[in-house]
Amino acid sequence: MSEVSLEHVTKRFDSTVAVNDVSIDIDDGEVMGIVGPSGCGKTTALRLVAGFETPTEGTIRYDSDDVTHVPPENRNVGLVFQSYALFNNMSVLKNVTFGPKMHGVGKDERRERAHELLELLDIEELADRNPKTLSGGQQQRVGLARALAIEPHILLLDEPMTGLDAKLKQTLRQELGQLLDDLGVTTLYVTHDQEQAMSMCDRIAVMNEGHLEQIGTPAEIYEEPANEFVAGFIGTANLLDGTVRDGTLSLGFEDVRTPDRVTTDGDVTVLVRPDDIPVGSGPVEVEVTNLFYQGEHIQATGELPDGRELTLRLNRSETAIGVGDTVSIDFEPESLHIIEST
Ligand code: ADP
Ligand code: MG
Repeated sequence: MSEVSLEHVTKRFDSTVAVNDVSIDIDDGEVMGIVGPSGCGKTTALRLVAGFETPTEGTIRYDSDDVTHVPPENRNVGLVFQSYALFNNMSVLKNVTFGPKMHGVGKDERRERAHELLELLDIEELADRNPKTLSGGQQQRVGLARALAIEPHILLLDEPMTGLDAKLKQTLRQELGQLLDDLGVTTLYVTHDQEQAMSMCDRIAVMNEGHLEQIGTPAEIYEEPANEFVAGFIGTANLLDGTVRDGTLSLGFEDVRTPDRVTTDGDVTVLVRPDDIPVGSGPVEVEVTNLFYQGEHIQATGELPDGRELTLRLNRSETAIGVGDTVSIDFEPESLHIIEST
């Protein structure tokens, strides 16, 4: 068993509240992501879990043990940071056996463990190389092998893909996601890149200005964001003002069908994702104001008749659409997600 929990953890640096009353339970073998904009407290949260920082308030537990005041060297954490911090004066193999050596693991056992990990990560042939002769992706794997070699209670990754090119990031995202799954190691994965977190993590904690805004599976966070911040940070969001009267939602358009079950009356904010808006037919007219080519699809911004702005996603087959054109769209009841006004 290897669970990790933060219980009402707050960390202050003078007047800055870097982490503000955050509670997260990471299950055994789970890959938990922390995402949020720069400066929201992700790294501080990770450093608190590792023991490099002590909370101002709150408790950190490994399984049921209170480790709040246990120094990092006694916590058995595997760390992978943005700068790989590999030892360039040692071979890849020595980099990987270093941690176990420090922990008093015998020579044969630590070499065997290292070779197993290098094989698992598909870098066995690099064992005798010097890390500085390796590509970014290879170095990242060595960093991971080194972190895993101590059989950590928790694996902590902080922006591990920073500095890698976009194509490599995409490949590694798939590979690393699969690998973390296969390893079954309890993992905390910190990134400002919501796409990385969405594709690699079992659950995601979304932070903003030190606060935990929402915690849930990638699907839950995408489909049912708790508030406007989460809706806007995870994916592209259209947020429209709506009104609920007698259980019926109105977005202010004629002939737009709305969800059947709406609970409380009042003003609401409605989330609709661009990829959930069918373009080509429907009761609402949008004038296209901008087009952004994004490779596999085209993102368009447009203006509704009442002047509100809307983001749409067009397929490559819709390249005939130009700025200034008017397109018909529809809102489907099942893609309208009501976010209670806060
Ligand atoms: P993130 O990793 O999400 O970018 P950080 O956890 O690094 O955010 O920082 C959160 C906030 O705490 C920032 O305002 C940052 O300036 C502040 N902070 C982090 N570490 C320290 C420190 N050692 N001393 C003072 N302020 C800090
Ligand atoms: Mg950081």
